[in-house]
Amino acid sequence: MQYPTPIAKLIDSYMKLPGIGAKTATRLAFYTLTMREEDVTDFAKALISVKRDLHFCDVCGNITDEATCDICRDQTRDRSVILVVEEPKDVMSMEKMREYRGLYHVLNGVISPMDGTGPDDLNIASLIKRLQNDEVQEVILAMNATTEGEATAMYLSRLIKPAGIKVTRLAHGLAVGSDIEYADEVTLLRAVEGRTEL
Ligand SMILES: [Zn+2]
Repeated sequence: MQYPTPIAKLIDSYMKLPGIGAKTATRLAFYTLTMREEDVTDFAKALISVKRDLHFCDVCGNITDEATCDICRDQTRDRSVILVVEEPKDVMSMEKMREYRGLYHVLNGVISPMDGTGPDDLNIASLIKRLQNDEVQEVILAMNATTEGEATAMYLSRLIKPAGIKVTRLAHGLAVGSDIEYADEVTLLRAVEGRTEL
């Protein structure tokens, strides 16, 4: 027996999410059937809105619903430091710490030969462009402590240092293999304060 098309389609859609297999997708699809209509409508609208209303900041690559994100537009921030992260969610983690007052650059990925992701697939060209004005004095590389994160940091360091800009890497109070996303605020603060020059 096959599921009616609407539920089969919903199961297929849930299965496209990371970490969701057929069993979980089926459970979620049947749960959706039991939800109140207005909650389902809100859910569907939220899904469409993240794709339609959010895009990447034209300066730093963070997600925003404006052309340029709040942080890039904030004139009170220290424009001499750029902290480079892998994903938009890493910016949120850093901001929670409330100590860092510089700017960000979001790569939207890491160099990963295994996944076929090279430097050209990342938001690197726009970073190099930002470094061409004299304002920036330090670039802090805050990739995750994974093999791909280290390789990406090395690549960026080689690219940026010849320009005479100080390049630092977060100190690793962060355990190897760990994600910035899961580090608590104190650990992150220590990692920023104890950063080392590359
Ligand atoms: Zn921005």
